Amino acid sequence: LMFKVGFLSDVYQERSVESGAIDKVVTRFPPEPNGFLHIGHSKAIAINFGFAKQHGGECYLRFDDTNPKSEEEQYFIAIEEMVKWLGFEPKRVTYSSDNFDRLYALAEALVERDRAYVCHCTKAEVIAQRGGGEGEGKPRYACPHRDRPTAESLAEFRAMRHGKYEVGETALRMKQNLDDGNPQMWDLFAYRIPEEEHRKHHRTGDKWRIYPTYDFTHCLCDSFEGITHSLCTTEFELSRVSYEWLCDELEVYKPMQREYGRLNVSGTVLSKRKIVELVNKGHVRAWDDPRLYTLIALRRRGVPPGAILSFVNELGVTKATTNIELRRFETSIRRYLELTVPRLMLVLEPLTVVIDGLDDDHLDMVDVPFSKNPAYGSHSIPFTKTVYIERSDFREVDSDDYFRLAPGKTVGLLKVPFPITATSFEKDSNTGEITVVHAKYEKPLDGSTPKKPKSFIHWVASSPAHNSPIKATVRAFNPLFRSNNPAAHPDGFLADINPDSEQIFPHAMIECGFEEIRQRAPWPAEAGEKKLIDAGKRSPESGVQQAAPGPETIRFQGMRVAYFCVDRETTKDDLILNRIVSLKEDVGK
Ligand code: ATP
Ligand code: MG
Ligand code: MG
Repeated sequence: LMFKVGFLSDVYQERSVESGAIDKVVTRFPPEPNGFLHIGHSKAIAINFGFAKQHGGECYLRFDDTNPKSEEEQYFIAIEEMVKWLGFEPKRVTYSSDNFDRLYALAEALVERDRAYVCHCTKAEVIAQRGGGEGEGKPRYACPHRDRPTAESLAEFRAMRHGKYEVGETALRMKQNLDDGNPQMWDLFAYRIPEEEHRKHHRTGDKWRIYPTYDFTHCLCDSFEGITHSLCTTEFELSRVSYEWLCDELEVYKPMQREYGRLNVSGTVLSKRKIVELVNKGHVRAWDDPRLYTLIALRRRGVPPGAILSFVNELGVTKATTNIELRRFETSIRRYLELTVPRLMLVLEPLTVVIDGLDDDHLDMVDVPFSKNPAYGSHSIPFTKTVYIERSDFREVDSDDYFRLAPGKTVGLLKVPFPITATSFEKDSNTGEITVVHAKYEKPLDGSTPKKPKSFIHWVASSPAHNSPIKATVRAFNPLFRSNNPAAHPDGFLADINPDSEQIFPHAMIECGFEEIRQRAPWPAEAGEKKLIDAGKRSPESGVQQAAPGPETIRFQGMRVAYFCVDRETTKDDLILNRIVSLKEDVGK
Protein backbone atom coordinates (compact mmCIF):
# COMPACT_ATOMS: atom_id res chain seq x y z
CA LEU A 1 0.00 0.00 0.00
CA MET A 2 1.05 3.47 -0.85
CA PHE A 3 2.16 4.73 2.54
CA LYS A 4 3.70 1.49 3.75
CA VAL A 5 6.42 0.91 1.20
CA GLY A 6 9.01 2.75 -0.80
CA PHE A 7 9.68 6.42 -0.98
CA LEU A 8 7.56 7.79 1.85
CA SER A 9 8.60 5.00 4.14
CA ASP A 10 12.24 5.95 3.61
CA VAL A 11 11.36 9.57 4.29
CA TYR A 12 9.79 8.55 7.57
CA GLN A 13 12.76 6.39 8.57
CA GLU A 14 15.05 9.38 8.17
CA ARG A 15 13.19 11.17 10.93
CA SER A 16 10.94 8.91 12.94
CA VAL A 17 9.20 8.83 16.28
CA GLU A 18 10.76 5.44 17.03
CA SER A 19 14.30 6.77 16.65
CA GLY A 20 13.54 9.53 19.12
CA ALA A 21 14.17 12.24 16.54
CA ILE A 22 10.64 13.64 16.88
CA ASP A 23 7.70 13.30 19.25
CA LYS A 24 5.14 13.19 16.49
CA VAL A 25 4.86 13.68 12.76
CA VAL A 26 3.58 17.08 11.64
CA THR A 27 2.93 17.83 7.96
CA ARG A 28 1.10 20.54 6.04
CA PHE A 29 -0.70 21.03 2.76
CA PRO A 30 0.33 24.56 1.70
CA PRO A 31 -1.70 25.85 -1.28
CA GLU A 32 -1.46 29.38 -2.55
CA PRO A 33 -5.02 30.74 -2.42
CA ASN A 34 -4.79 31.97 -6.00
CA GLY A 35 -7.01 29.44 -7.76
CA PHE A 36 -9.13 26.36 -7.36
CA LEU A 37 -7.55 23.04 -6.48
CA HIS A 38 -7.26 20.51 -9.28
CA ILE A 39 -6.74 16.79 -9.64
CA GLY A 40 -2.96 17.19 -9.19
CA HIS A 41 -3.47 18.77 -5.79
CA SER A 42 -5.35 15.71 -4.61
CA LYS A 43 -2.04 13.87 -4.64
CA ALA A 44 -0.42 16.51 -2.45
CA ILE A 45 -3.40 16.39 -0.09
CA ALA A 46 -3.43 12.59 0.09
CA ILE A 47 0.32 12.47 0.73
CA ASN A 48 0.47 15.11 3.42
CA PHE A 49 -2.66 14.06 5.30
CA GLY A 50 -2.07 10.36 4.67
CA PHE A 51 1.54 10.44 5.87
CA ALA A 52 0.58 12.20 9.10
CA LYS A 53 -2.35 9.90 9.69
CA GLN A 54 -0.32 6.78 9.10
CA HIS A 55 2.25 7.81 11.68
CA GLY A 56 -0.24 9.05 14.24
CA GLY A 57 0.65 12.67 13.58
CA GLU A 58 -1.08 15.85 12.46
CA CYS A 59 -1.51 17.71 9.22
CA TYR A 60 -2.31 21.39 8.85
CA LEU A 61 -3.91 23.27 6.00
CA ARG A 62 -1.71 26.31 5.48
CA PHE A 63 -2.74 29.07 3.15
CA ASP A 64 0.47 30.34 1.64
CA ASP A 65 -0.93 33.83 1.27
CA THR A 66 2.09 36.05 0.91
CA ASN A 67 1.34 37.40 -2.55
CA PRO A 68 -1.74 39.62 -2.38
CA LYS A 69 -1.76 39.98 -6.16
CA SER A 70 -3.99 37.05 -7.02
CA GLU A 71 -5.47 35.95 -3.73
CA GLU A 72 -9.22 36.00 -3.40
CA GLU A 73 -11.70 35.14 -0.68
CA GLN A 74 -13.47 32.55 -2.84
CA TYR A 75 -10.28 30.51 -3.17
CA PHE A 76 -9.71 30.29 0.57
CA ILE A 77 -13.24 29.00 1.02
CA ALA A 78 -13.17 26.56 -1.87
CA ILE A 79 -9.76 25.12 -0.94
CA GLU A 80 -10.79 24.31 2.61
CA GLU A 81 -14.05 22.88 1.36
CA MET A 82 -12.26 20.59 -1.10
CA VAL A 83 -9.78 19.30 1.48
CA LYS A 84 -12.71 18.36 3.69
CA TRP A 85 -14.63 16.96 0.75
CA LEU A 86 -11.74 14.57 0.10
CA GLY A 87 -12.26 13.37 3.66
CA PHE A 88 -9.46 15.12 5.51
CA GLU A 89 -9.80 17.27 8.60
CA PRO A 90 -6.90 19.68 9.06
CA LYS A 91 -5.72 19.74 12.65
CA ARG A 92 -5.32 23.50 12.21
CA VAL A 93 -5.93 25.98 9.43
CA THR A 94 -3.06 28.44 9.32
CA TYR A 95 -2.06 31.43 7.22
CA SER A 96 1.46 32.39 6.27
CA SER A 97 0.30 36.01 6.61
CA ASP A 98 -0.30 35.46 10.33
CA ASN A 99 3.49 35.33 10.57
CA PHE A 100 4.22 38.63 8.81
CA ASP A 101 5.51 40.27 12.00
CA ARG A 102 7.68 37.32 12.87
CA LEU A 103 8.97 37.00 9.33
CA TYR A 104 9.84 40.67 9.27
CA ALA A 105 11.72 40.37 12.57
CA LEU A 106 13.71 37.44 11.17
CA ALA A 107 14.47 39.42 8.02
CA GLU A 108 15.97 42.17 10.18
CA ALA A 109 17.85 39.52 12.14
CA LEU A 110 19.25 38.16 8.88
CA VAL A 111 20.46 41.62 7.92
CA GLU A 112 22.03 42.04 11.35
CA ARG A 113 23.85 38.74 10.88
CA ASP A 114 25.14 40.11 7.58
CA ARG A 115 23.28 37.45 5.66
CA ALA A 116 20.95 39.80 3.78
CA TYR A 117 21.24 43.19 2.11
CA VAL A 118 19.09 45.75 0.40
CA CYS A 119 19.66 45.79 -3.35
CA HIS A 120 18.63 48.56 -5.78
CA CYS A 121 19.45 46.79 -9.05
CA THR A 122 17.08 46.43 -11.97
CA LYS A 123 15.74 43.07 -13.02
CA ALA A 124 18.15 42.97 -15.97
CA GLU A 125 21.10 43.70 -13.71
CA VAL A 126 20.15 40.89 -11.37
CA ILE A 127 19.91 38.47 -14.28
CA ALA A 128 23.34 39.53 -15.47
CA GLN A 129 24.78 39.08 -11.96
CA ARG A 130 23.48 35.54 -12.06
CA GLY A 131 25.37 34.73 -15.22
CA GLY A 132 22.75 35.78 -17.73
CA GLY A 133 20.08 33.42 -16.63
CA GLU A 134 19.92 29.70 -16.33
CA GLY A 135 21.97 27.78 -18.84
CA GLU A 136 23.90 30.75 -20.18
CA GLY A 137 26.79 30.20 -17.86
CA LYS A 138 28.47 33.60 -18.10
CA PRO A 139 30.54 34.47 -15.05
CA ARG A 140 28.47 35.48 -12.06
CA TYR A 141 29.30 38.59 -10.08
CA ALA A 142 28.16 40.21 -6.89
CA CYS A 143 25.54 42.91 -6.67
CA PRO A 144 27.25 46.27 -5.93
CA HIS A 145 25.15 46.61 -2.76
CA ARG A 146 26.12 43.22 -1.41
CA ASP A 147 28.88 44.50 0.83
CA ARG A 148 27.28 47.69 2.06
CA PRO A 149 27.38 48.09 5.85
CA THR A 150 24.80 46.12 7.79
CA ALA A 151 23.46 49.27 9.42
CA GLU A 152 22.86 50.82 6.01
CA SER A 153 20.94 47.80 4.77
CA LEU A 154 18.90 47.79 7.93
CA ALA A 155 18.01 51.44 7.53
CA GLU A 156 17.12 50.92 3.87
CA PHE A 157 15.01 47.86 4.69
CA ARG A 158 13.05 49.92 7.19
CA ALA A 159 12.75 52.70 4.62
CA MET A 160 11.42 50.16 2.15
CA ARG A 161 8.82 49.14 4.67
CA HIS A 162 7.81 52.72 5.32
CA GLY A 163 7.30 53.81 1.75
CA LYS A 164 10.51 55.44 0.57
CA TYR A 165 10.66 53.20 -2.52
CA GLU A 166 8.40 52.14 -5.33
CA VAL A 167 7.92 48.82 -7.03
CA GLY A 168 11.08 47.42 -8.60
CA GLU A 169 13.34 50.00 -6.99
CA THR A 170 14.57 47.95 -4.07
CA ALA A 171 14.42 44.49 -2.61
CA LEU A 172 15.89 42.57 0.27
CA ARG A 173 18.20 39.82 -0.93
CA MET A 174 19.78 36.98 0.96
CA LYS A 175 23.56 36.92 1.02
CA GLN A 176 24.17 33.33 -0.04
CA ASN A 177 26.95 31.84 -2.14
CA LEU A 178 27.48 32.88 -5.75
CA ASP A 179 30.14 30.19 -6.18
CA ASP A 180 27.62 27.47 -5.55
CA GLY A 181 26.43 25.71 -8.71
CA ASN A 182 22.84 25.81 -7.45
CA PRO A 183 20.91 28.89 -8.68
CA GLN A 184 18.89 28.76 -5.47
CA MET A 185 22.04 30.01 -3.75
CA TRP A 186 22.50 33.09 -5.92
CA ASP A 187 21.29 35.72 -3.49
CA LEU A 188 17.57 35.01 -3.69
CA PHE A 189 15.03 37.72 -3.01
CA ALA A 190 13.58 37.77 0.48
CA TYR A 191 11.26 40.81 0.35
CA ARG A 192 9.76 42.78 -2.50
CA ILE A 193 7.47 45.75 -3.04
CA PRO A 194 4.44 44.80 -5.11
CA GLU A 195 2.74 47.13 -7.58
CA GLU A 196 0.55 49.76 -5.92
CA GLU A 197 -2.69 48.04 -6.94
CA HIS A 198 -1.56 44.70 -5.50
CA ARG A 199 -0.48 45.97 -2.13
CA LYS A 200 -3.64 45.49 -0.14
CA HIS A 201 -3.64 42.11 1.55
CA HIS A 202 -6.72 40.00 2.04
CA ARG A 203 -6.04 39.53 5.74
CA THR A 204 -3.63 42.26 6.79
CA GLY A 205 -5.13 45.07 4.70
CA ASP A 206 -2.86 48.13 4.34
CA LYS A 207 -0.45 47.18 7.11
CA TRP A 208 2.36 46.11 4.79
CA ARG A 209 3.79 47.49 1.59
CA ILE A 210 6.56 44.91 1.45
CA TYR A 211 5.91 41.19 1.16
CA PRO A 212 8.14 38.17 1.77
CA THR A 213 8.89 35.82 -1.12
CA TYR A 214 8.13 32.12 -1.28
CA ASP A 215 11.81 31.31 -0.73
CA PHE A 216 11.94 33.34 2.44
CA THR A 217 8.51 32.41 3.78
CA HIS A 218 7.96 28.76 3.11
CA CYS A 219 10.75 27.23 5.18
CA LEU A 220 10.25 29.66 8.05
CA CYS A 221 6.51 29.02 8.26
CA ASP A 222 7.25 25.29 8.21
CA SER A 223 9.70 25.92 11.02
CA PHE A 224 7.30 28.05 13.11
CA GLU A 225 4.66 25.32 12.85
CA GLY A 226 7.07 22.56 13.82
CA ILE A 227 6.59 20.73 10.54
CA THR A 228 8.71 17.59 10.81
CA HIS A 229 8.48 16.43 7.18
CA SER A 230 7.98 19.12 4.58
CA LEU A 231 6.80 17.22 1.50
CA CYS A 232 6.74 19.05 -1.80
CA THR A 233 6.98 18.40 -5.53
CA THR A 234 10.28 17.87 -7.33
CA GLU A 235 10.41 21.38 -8.88
CA PHE A 236 11.55 22.37 -5.40
CA GLU A 237 14.43 19.94 -5.26
CA LEU A 238 17.03 22.65 -5.82
CA SER A 239 15.28 24.80 -3.25
CA ARG A 240 16.07 22.30 -0.55
CA VAL A 241 19.52 23.86 -0.21
CA SER A 242 18.22 27.40 0.26
CA TYR A 243 15.50 26.10 2.56
CA GLU A 244 18.10 24.58 4.84
CA TRP A 245 20.50 27.47 4.44
CA LEU A 246 17.95 29.97 5.74
CA CYS A 247 16.92 27.82 8.72
CA ASP A 248 20.58 27.31 9.60
CA GLU A 249 21.55 30.97 9.28
CA LEU A 250 18.69 32.01 11.52
CA GLU A 251 19.23 29.07 13.88
CA VAL A 252 15.60 28.06 13.85
CA TYR A 253 14.06 24.57 13.89
CA LYS A 254 14.78 22.86 10.59
CA PRO A 255 12.02 20.76 9.04
CA MET A 256 13.10 18.06 6.61
CA GLN A 257 12.15 18.87 3.03
CA ARG A 258 11.71 15.89 0.71
CA GLU A 259 10.31 15.89 -2.83
CA TYR A 260 7.87 13.64 -4.69
CA GLY A 261 6.80 13.64 -8.34
CA ARG A 262 3.89 15.75 -9.54
CA LEU A 263 0.74 14.16 -10.83
CA ASN A 264 0.01 15.55 -14.28
CA VAL A 265 -2.96 14.55 -16.37
CA SER A 266 -2.82 14.87 -20.12
CA GLY A 267 -5.67 15.84 -22.42
CA THR A 268 -6.85 18.73 -20.30
CA VAL A 269 -5.64 22.07 -19.00
CA LEU A 270 -5.28 22.88 -15.31
CA SER A 271 -3.75 26.32 -15.33
CA LYS A 272 -5.90 29.01 -13.91
CA ARG A 273 -5.33 31.40 -16.79
CA LYS A 274 -6.50 28.84 -19.34
CA ILE A 275 -9.57 27.86 -17.34
CA VAL A 276 -10.51 31.52 -16.96
CA GLU A 277 -10.40 31.78 -20.75
CA LEU A 278 -12.58 28.70 -21.21
CA VAL A 279 -15.15 30.12 -18.80
CA ASN A 280 -15.10 33.66 -20.21
CA LYS A 281 -15.43 32.51 -23.79
CA GLY A 282 -18.31 30.21 -22.97
CA HIS A 283 -16.60 26.92 -23.81
CA VAL A 284 -17.59 25.60 -20.40
CA ARG A 285 -20.39 26.60 -18.05
CA ALA A 286 -18.29 27.63 -15.08
CA TRP A 287 -15.25 26.74 -12.96
CA ASP A 288 -17.07 23.64 -11.83
CA ASP A 289 -18.10 22.53 -15.32
CA PRO A 290 -17.99 18.72 -15.26
CA ARG A 291 -15.63 18.67 -18.23
CA LEU A 292 -12.88 20.34 -16.18
CA TYR A 293 -10.50 18.71 -13.75
CA THR A 294 -10.66 21.14 -10.89
CA LEU A 295 -11.82 19.37 -7.75
CA ILE A 296 -15.03 21.39 -7.68
CA ALA A 297 -15.70 20.24 -11.25
CA LEU A 298 -15.05 16.62 -10.38
CA ARG A 299 -17.39 16.95 -7.44
CA ARG A 300 -20.12 18.43 -9.61
CA ARG A 301 -19.62 15.69 -12.15
CA GLY A 302 -20.37 13.17 -9.43
CA VAL A 303 -16.92 11.67 -9.01
CA PRO A 304 -16.82 10.47 -5.40
CA PRO A 305 -13.88 11.61 -3.29
CA GLY A 306 -13.06 7.97 -2.56
CA ALA A 307 -12.57 7.36 -6.29
CA ILE A 308 -10.03 10.18 -6.46
CA LEU A 309 -8.16 8.80 -3.47
CA SER A 310 -8.18 5.32 -4.99
CA PHE A 311 -6.75 6.75 -8.18
CA VAL A 312 -3.95 8.55 -6.35
CA ASN A 313 -3.25 5.43 -4.32
CA GLU A 314 -3.00 3.24 -7.39
CA LEU A 315 -0.41 5.54 -8.90
CA GLY A 316 1.76 5.35 -5.82
CA VAL A 317 4.35 7.86 -4.67
CA THR A 318 7.78 8.15 -6.23
CA LYS A 319 10.13 10.93 -7.24
CA ALA A 320 9.17 10.61 -10.88
CA THR A 321 6.49 12.85 -12.35
CA THR A 322 3.48 10.83 -13.40
CA ASN A 323 1.72 11.74 -16.64
CA ILE A 324 -1.66 10.13 -16.73
CA GLU A 325 -4.22 9.97 -19.49
CA LEU A 326 -7.75 10.87 -18.57
CA ARG A 327 -8.88 7.39 -19.60
CA ARG A 328 -6.85 5.89 -16.80
CA PHE A 329 -8.53 8.15 -14.27
CA GLU A 330 -11.92 7.15 -15.66
CA THR A 331 -11.05 3.51 -15.19
CA SER A 332 -10.45 4.14 -11.50
CA ILE A 333 -13.72 6.02 -11.20
CA ARG A 334 -15.61 3.21 -12.87
CA ARG A 335 -14.10 0.58 -10.63
CA TYR A 336 -15.02 2.60 -7.57
CA LEU A 337 -18.57 3.32 -8.67
CA GLU A 338 -19.16 -0.28 -9.59
CA LEU A 339 -18.65 -1.22 -5.94
CA THR A 340 -20.34 1.71 -4.28
CA VAL A 341 -23.46 2.96 -6.06
CA PRO A 342 -26.96 1.54 -6.46
CA ARG A 343 -28.42 0.53 -9.81
CA LEU A 344 -31.51 1.62 -11.65
CA MET A 345 -32.92 1.55 -15.12
CA LEU A 346 -32.65 4.74 -17.14
CA VAL A 347 -33.50 5.13 -20.81
CA LEU A 348 -31.57 7.89 -22.56
CA GLU A 349 -33.59 8.05 -25.80
CA PRO A 350 -36.95 6.38 -25.25
CA LEU A 351 -38.88 4.36 -27.80
CA THR A 352 -42.42 3.26 -26.92
CA VAL A 353 -43.15 -0.44 -26.92
CA VAL A 354 -46.75 -1.67 -26.65
CA ILE A 355 -47.12 -5.27 -25.58
CA ASP A 356 -50.33 -6.05 -27.40
CA GLY A 357 -51.38 -9.24 -25.64
CA LEU A 358 -51.51 -7.64 -22.19
CA ASP A 359 -54.63 -5.99 -20.73
CA ASP A 360 -54.65 -2.20 -20.77
CA ASP A 361 -54.41 -2.17 -16.97
CA HIS A 362 -51.91 -4.99 -16.73
CA LEU A 363 -49.63 -4.55 -13.72
CA ASP A 364 -46.91 -6.79 -12.32
CA MET A 365 -44.71 -5.50 -9.55
CA VAL A 366 -41.16 -6.67 -10.13
CA ASP A 367 -38.56 -6.80 -7.37
CA VAL A 368 -35.22 -5.30 -8.35
CA PRO A 369 -32.13 -5.30 -6.11
CA PHE A 370 -30.34 -1.96 -5.90
CA SER A 371 -26.97 -3.66 -6.17
CA LYS A 372 -25.02 -6.88 -5.92
CA ASN A 373 -24.24 -5.59 -2.44
CA PRO A 374 -27.14 -7.05 -0.42
CA ALA A 375 -26.84 -4.25 2.14
CA TYR A 376 -28.39 -1.90 -0.42
CA GLY A 377 -31.68 -3.82 -0.45
CA SER A 378 -34.19 -3.89 -3.25
CA HIS A 379 -37.22 -2.03 -4.54
CA SER A 380 -40.22 -2.80 -6.59
CA ILE A 381 -41.14 -1.41 -10.01
CA PRO A 382 -44.26 -1.73 -12.15
CA PHE A 383 -44.35 -3.73 -15.38
CA THR A 384 -47.10 -2.50 -17.68
CA LYS A 385 -48.51 -2.89 -21.15
CA THR A 386 -46.59 0.15 -22.40
CA VAL A 387 -42.87 0.36 -21.68
CA TYR A 388 -40.04 2.52 -22.97
CA ILE A 389 -36.84 1.03 -24.25
CA GLU A 390 -33.66 2.58 -25.61
CA ARG A 391 -34.14 3.65 -29.23
CA SER A 392 -30.76 2.11 -30.00
CA ASP A 393 -32.01 -1.27 -28.74
CA PHE A 394 -34.43 -1.61 -31.68
CA ARG A 395 -33.67 -2.17 -35.37
CA GLU A 396 -36.06 -2.19 -38.28
CA VAL A 397 -34.12 -4.90 -40.04
CA ASP A 398 -32.81 -7.88 -38.14
CA SER A 399 -29.50 -9.59 -38.78
CA ASP A 400 -27.74 -12.65 -37.42
CA ASP A 401 -25.14 -10.73 -35.48
CA TYR A 402 -27.76 -8.54 -33.80
CA PHE A 403 -29.20 -9.69 -30.49
CA ARG A 404 -31.50 -6.93 -29.36
CA LEU A 405 -35.04 -6.12 -30.49
CA ALA A 406 -36.11 -6.34 -34.15
CA PRO A 407 -39.22 -7.60 -35.89
CA GLY A 408 -39.51 -11.30 -35.10
CA LYS A 409 -36.73 -11.15 -32.51
CA THR A 410 -37.10 -12.00 -28.84
CA VAL A 411 -35.35 -10.15 -26.00
CA GLY A 412 -35.66 -10.12 -22.26
CA LEU A 413 -36.64 -7.00 -20.38
CA LEU A 414 -34.33 -6.90 -17.35
CA LYS A 415 -36.01 -8.52 -14.30
CA VAL A 416 -39.33 -9.12 -16.11
CA PRO A 417 -40.38 -12.80 -15.83
CA PHE A 418 -40.91 -13.47 -19.56
CA PRO A 419 -39.34 -12.05 -22.71
CA ILE A 420 -41.01 -10.10 -25.51
CA THR A 421 -40.91 -10.52 -29.27
CA ALA A 422 -41.34 -7.58 -31.62
CA THR A 423 -44.19 -8.03 -34.07
CA SER A 424 -44.42 -4.74 -36.00
CA PHE A 425 -43.64 -1.03 -35.75
CA GLU A 426 -45.13 2.32 -36.76
CA LYS A 427 -43.35 5.25 -38.33
CA ASP A 428 -44.01 8.95 -38.45
CA SER A 429 -44.82 9.55 -42.10
CA ASN A 430 -43.11 12.95 -42.08
CA THR A 431 -39.90 12.27 -40.26
CA GLY A 432 -39.56 8.56 -40.92
CA GLU A 433 -38.85 8.10 -37.24
CA ILE A 434 -40.13 4.97 -35.54
CA THR A 435 -42.86 5.95 -33.09
CA VAL A 436 -44.12 2.68 -31.63
CA VAL A 437 -42.97 -0.90 -31.58
CA HIS A 438 -45.58 -3.60 -31.09
CA ALA A 439 -44.60 -6.74 -29.26
CA LYS A 440 -46.03 -9.85 -27.68
CA TYR A 441 -45.36 -11.22 -24.23
CA GLU A 442 -43.83 -14.70 -24.38
CA LYS A 443 -45.62 -16.13 -21.38
CA PRO A 444 -46.49 -19.75 -22.23
CA LEU A 445 -50.15 -20.32 -21.37
CA ASP A 446 -49.64 -24.06 -20.97
CA GLY A 447 -46.86 -23.75 -18.41
CA SER A 448 -44.17 -24.93 -20.83
CA THR A 449 -40.64 -23.48 -20.73
CA PRO A 450 -40.60 -19.96 -22.17
CA LYS A 451 -38.36 -18.89 -25.02
CA LYS A 452 -34.89 -18.03 -23.78
CA PRO A 453 -33.72 -14.65 -25.03
CA LYS A 454 -30.14 -14.09 -26.19
CA SER A 455 -29.99 -10.77 -24.43
CA PHE A 456 -31.71 -8.48 -21.94
CA ILE A 457 -32.38 -4.80 -22.35
CA HIS A 458 -33.31 -2.09 -19.87
CA TRP A 459 -36.74 -0.45 -19.89
CA VAL A 460 -39.01 1.86 -17.95
CA ALA A 461 -42.74 1.35 -17.40
CA SER A 462 -45.52 3.78 -18.14
CA SER A 463 -47.46 3.94 -14.91
CA PRO A 464 -48.31 7.43 -13.69
CA ALA A 465 -49.80 5.92 -10.53
CA HIS A 466 -46.32 4.66 -9.65
CA ASN A 467 -44.57 7.85 -10.67
CA SER A 468 -43.07 6.13 -13.71
CA PRO A 469 -41.35 7.31 -15.77
CA ILE A 470 -39.48 10.11 -14.06
CA LYS A 471 -38.28 12.50 -16.76
CA ALA A 472 -34.80 13.94 -16.86
CA THR A 473 -32.35 15.83 -19.02
CA VAL A 474 -29.04 14.04 -19.23
CA ARG A 475 -25.75 15.77 -19.95
CA ALA A 476 -23.11 13.39 -21.23
CA PHE A 477 -19.54 14.59 -21.39
CA ASN A 478 -16.80 13.78 -23.82
CA PRO A 479 -13.24 15.06 -23.62
CA LEU A 480 -13.10 18.84 -23.86
CA PHE A 481 -10.05 18.65 -26.12
CA ARG A 482 -9.29 16.58 -29.16
CA SER A 483 -5.63 15.94 -28.47
CA ASN A 484 -3.70 14.68 -25.54
CA ASN A 485 -1.76 17.89 -25.24
CA PRO A 486 -4.00 20.89 -25.93
CA ALA A 487 -1.39 23.37 -24.69
CA ALA A 488 0.93 22.28 -27.52
CA HIS A 489 -1.52 23.16 -30.32
CA PRO A 490 0.24 25.60 -32.68
CA ASP A 491 -2.79 27.93 -32.68
CA GLY A 492 -3.22 27.80 -28.93
CA PHE A 493 -5.15 25.43 -26.70
CA LEU A 494 -8.56 26.83 -27.72
CA ALA A 495 -7.99 25.58 -31.26
CA ASP A 496 -7.93 22.07 -29.85
CA ILE A 497 -11.44 22.23 -28.35
CA ASN A 498 -13.70 19.29 -29.13
CA PRO A 499 -16.97 20.75 -30.50
CA ASP A 500 -18.87 17.69 -29.22
CA SER A 501 -17.73 17.71 -25.65
CA GLU A 502 -21.28 17.86 -24.31
CA GLN A 503 -24.19 15.84 -25.56
CA ILE A 504 -27.69 16.55 -24.24
CA PHE A 505 -30.45 13.93 -23.95
CA PRO A 506 -33.54 16.02 -23.17
CA HIS A 507 -36.08 13.19 -22.91
CA ALA A 508 -34.42 10.62 -20.68
CA MET A 509 -36.68 8.50 -18.46
CA ILE A 510 -35.88 6.86 -15.15
CA GLU A 511 -37.76 4.16 -13.31
CA CYS A 512 -39.49 5.08 -10.06
CA GLY A 513 -36.75 3.59 -7.85
CA PHE A 514 -34.97 6.90 -8.38
CA GLU A 515 -37.11 8.49 -5.65
CA GLU A 516 -35.71 6.08 -3.09
CA ILE A 517 -32.18 6.60 -4.37
CA ARG A 518 -32.64 10.32 -3.96
CA GLN A 519 -33.98 10.00 -0.44
CA ARG A 520 -31.33 7.56 0.72
CA ALA A 521 -28.34 9.44 -0.75
CA PRO A 522 -25.50 9.46 0.00
CA TRP A 523 -25.32 5.67 -0.11
CA PRO A 524 -22.78 4.13 2.24
CA ALA A 525 -19.58 3.30 0.41
CA GLU A 526 -17.85 1.30 3.16
CA ALA A 527 -18.40 -2.19 1.76
CA GLY A 528 -17.03 -1.16 -1.62
CA GLU A 529 -14.13 0.76 -0.10
CA LYS A 530 -13.20 -2.25 1.99
CA LYS A 531 -12.97 -4.37 -1.13
CA LEU A 532 -10.71 -1.79 -2.76
CA ILE A 533 -8.53 -1.60 0.35
CA ASP A 534 -8.23 -5.39 0.46
CA ALA A 535 -7.24 -5.35 -3.19
CA GLY A 536 -4.61 -2.68 -2.54
CA LYS A 537 -6.43 -0.15 -4.70
CA ARG A 538 -7.20 2.15 -1.83
CA SER A 539 -5.13 3.21 1.12
CA PRO A 540 -6.74 2.83 4.53
CA GLU A 541 -4.53 5.65 5.79
CA SER A 542 -6.24 8.20 3.64
CA GLY A 543 -9.46 9.75 4.75
CA VAL A 544 -12.80 8.08 4.89
CA GLN A 545 -15.33 9.47 2.49
CA GLN A 546 -17.43 12.13 4.17
CA ALA A 547 -19.88 12.82 1.45
CA ALA A 548 -21.39 16.25 1.87
CA PRO A 549 -25.08 15.91 1.12
CA GLY A 550 -24.95 17.82 -2.15
CA PRO A 551 -27.00 16.86 -5.23
CA GLU A 552 -23.97 15.09 -6.71
CA THR A 553 -24.14 12.45 -3.99
CA ILE A 554 -27.36 11.19 -5.60
CA ARG A 555 -25.51 8.74 -7.83
CA PHE A 556 -26.51 5.56 -9.57
CA GLN A 557 -25.62 3.20 -12.31
CA GLY A 558 -28.12 3.32 -15.15
CA MET A 559 -27.97 -0.36 -16.04
CA ARG A 560 -26.38 -0.95 -19.44
CA VAL A 561 -25.93 2.80 -19.92
CA ALA A 562 -23.59 4.70 -17.60
CA TYR A 563 -23.11 6.17 -14.14
CA PHE A 564 -25.08 9.30 -13.36
CA CYS A 565 -25.54 11.90 -10.66
CA VAL A 566 -27.86 14.83 -10.09
CA ASP A 567 -26.52 18.16 -11.30
CA ARG A 568 -26.70 21.23 -9.08
CA GLU A 569 -28.78 23.10 -11.69
CA THR A 570 -31.69 20.73 -11.06
CA THR A 571 -34.92 22.52 -10.10
CA LYS A 572 -38.24 21.31 -8.80
CA ASP A 573 -39.52 20.91 -12.35
CA ASP A 574 -36.38 20.01 -14.17
CA LEU A 575 -34.22 17.07 -13.18
CA ILE A 576 -30.75 17.35 -14.70
CA LEU A 577 -28.34 14.44 -14.59
CA ASN A 578 -24.64 14.36 -15.33
CA ARG A 579 -23.06 11.32 -16.83
CA ILE A 580 -20.14 10.62 -14.50
CA VAL A 581 -18.53 7.98 -16.75
CA SER A 582 -19.73 5.45 -19.27
CA LEU A 583 -19.88 1.82 -18.18
CA LYS A 584 -17.09 0.75 -20.46
CA GLU A 585 -14.37 2.63 -22.19
CA ASP A 586 -15.83 3.34 -25.61
CA VAL A 587 -19.49 2.90 -24.97
CA GLY A 588 -21.80 5.86 -24.92
CA LYS A 589 -19.64 8.25 -26.90
P1 ATP B 1 -0.50 25.06 -9.79
O1 ATP B 1 0.51 25.92 -10.44
O2 ATP B 1 -0.91 23.88 -10.60
O3 ATP B 1 -1.66 25.81 -9.23
P2 ATP B 1 1.29 25.17 -7.60
O4 ATP B 1 2.59 24.52 -7.82
O5 ATP B 1 1.14 26.63 -7.71
O6 ATP B 1 0.22 24.42 -8.52
P3 ATP B 1 -0.03 25.35 -5.05
O7 ATP B 1 -1.34 25.79 -5.58
O8 ATP B 1 0.71 26.30 -4.23
O9 ATP B 1 0.91 24.76 -6.19
O10 ATP B 1 -0.17 23.92 -4.41
C1 ATP B 1 -0.03 23.50 -3.09
C2 ATP B 1 0.70 22.20 -3.00
O11 ATP B 1 0.22 21.26 -3.95
C3 ATP B 1 2.18 22.36 -3.27
O12 ATP B 1 2.87 21.63 -2.28
C4 ATP B 1 2.37 21.79 -4.62
O13 ATP B 1 3.65 21.26 -4.75
C5 ATP B 1 1.29 20.73 -4.68
N1 ATP B 1 0.90 20.46 -6.05
C6 ATP B 1 0.48 21.35 -6.97
N2 ATP B 1 0.24 20.78 -8.15
C7 ATP B 1 0.52 19.47 -7.99
C8 ATP B 1 0.49 18.33 -8.85
N3 ATP B 1 0.14 18.45 -10.13
N4 ATP B 1 0.84 17.13 -8.34
C9 ATP B 1 1.20 17.01 -7.05
N5 ATP B 1 1.26 18.02 -6.19
C10 ATP B 1 0.93 19.25 -6.64
MG1 MG C 1 2.32 28.08 -6.60
MG1 MG D 1 -1.41 27.24 -7.62
